[in-house]
Amino acid sequence: MNTPTLADKRAEVARLHEGLKSWRLVAEHYPGAKPGTLSRFVNDNAYVPHRATVLTALGLPVFDKPKVCPRHGIVHVAKRCPATRKPGKPRLPRLDRYRLALELIGVLNG
Ligand SMILES: [Zn+2]
Repeated sequence: MNTPTLADKRAEVARLHEGLKSWRLVAEHYPGAKPGTLSRFVNDNAYVPHRATVLTALGLPVFDKPKVCPRHGIVHVAKRCPATRKPGKPRLPRLDRYRLALELIGVLNG
């Protein structure tokens, strides 16, 4: 599935307006977007809609804002706060692949 670009969408909405001659009628094709928003979208190349309702109406992808951890005030790379891990349930140590491989070779060579 191809995701339309902003320019694609601008052209599409502009074409629609050329035919319908009315932003109100154009807006009926994009439920959730107001006539004024669509007019601005076509006429102002610097305008990039951010509201999810407008993006969804235009069929553009909606990106979630990264979640800032309320406890640490940063965006955790792991996407979840390490402080939320349950205490008393220590994580199993990571497998040491290199050591395991050496042991396997030792077993195979007996
Ligand atoms: Zn955190």
